[in-house]
Amino acid sequence: MEISAQKIARLRKMLSPAGKRIVVLSHYNPDGDAIGSSLAWCKILEEMGHEVTCVVPNKYPYFLDWIEGIDRIKIFKDDSDGKTAEAIRSAEIICCLDFNTISRMEGLSELILENNTAQKLLIDHHLQPPRNYYDLMFSCPEASSTCYLLCKIIEKLCGTEAIDQPMATALYVGMMTDTGNFTFSNLTPDLYRTIAMLVEKGIDIPRINVEVYNSFTEGRVRLLSYALGPKMQLIENGTVAYIALKEGELRRFGFQQGDSEGFVNYPLSIKNVRMSAMFLQTRRFIRVSLRSRGDVDVNVFARRYFNGGGHRNAAGGKSMVSMEETIDHYKQAVQEFFHPEEAQNA
Ligand code: 5GP
Ligand code: MN
Repeated sequence: MEISAQKIARLRKMLSPAGKRIVVLSHYNPDGDAIGSSLAWCKILEEMGHEVTCVVPNKYPYFLDWIEGIDRIKIFKDDSDGKTAEAIRSAEIICCLDFNTISRMEGLSELILENNTAQKLLIDHHLQPPRNYYDLMFSCPEASSTCYLLCKIIEKLCGTEAIDQPMATALYVGMMTDTGNFTFSNLTPDLYRTIAMLVEKGIDIPRINVEVYNSFTEGRVRLLSYALGPKMQLIENGTVAYIALKEGELRRFGFQQGDSEGFVNYPLSIKNVRMSAMFLQTRRFIRVSLRSRGDVDVNVFARRYFNGGGHRNAAGGKSMVSMEETIDHYKQAVQEFFHPEEAQNA
């Protein structure tokens, strides 16, 4: 992954002189990569002398609560005094981290689009960024996480001296969670060199593991067992899986934001399963999560059938109809996706 000197020069120009009003934004249902990259970038910008507001549309999962500085993040959903909205309206620079389509910002989208004087910066690793929206784009789909990409940008912009231990920890959380604890794709030699640099900054990897992966509620563990036991369904001769969880079922297990994180990956631990889906009912719609192995492209699947997108092996989208209709739609989509010839002849 090469970051051009020319782009870094443009970034430096965008960020000077000091004293700019900057908003750093990340996506709806913020995950470890969204939070880690936002916190690290905010700190760098503040050290450069800017006035920075860090915003996410809704609450991050509780297993990220321990990250130093996380309480500075403004949850737009809780913006009762309108201060966060005002910061977005009056921002001179808007930085979008770990997402590229403004529609993923839910209720925040309109506010962002309204501010057409701010310069827009993108730092992200999702596929297919919009063409004409950003003034400067660091869009690297080959980066395994936005945190890794951001690390490379920080290295070039201000050197690794600018990274302290808390910042290194936040960046590591994103790298770890987006790669499934370093088991997914794009695990390049340079990623491990970058991690070595973070280790030199004094990060405590065993502690980070415990905080993120072994700090769940009892309800979450029981919900996982329910999701994989009675709820997991296999179709297509056992090669395609899905799990559907309705609001009432979630309530029974004392569901909290983030509790279902990672559930969709488990069916893929069955040798023959090539694609897995999870449907999670929320008040307004059904959130769709998709995972796959090898060349089964769930980014294409999510775009085609669920108004979403993502990466080749991890994507998501939405469904605005009932759970039953969503499952029917999924089954039909699977049929069409895996047997296009039959669908054409039908
Ligand atoms: P998750 O299943 O963890 O919510 O999402 C997996 C990946 O799918 C995310 O990293 C993101 O790239 C993508 N994704 C999830 N939901 C959406 C969506 O509604 N729209 C788009 N474009 N991408 C999504
Ligand atoms: Mn990410």
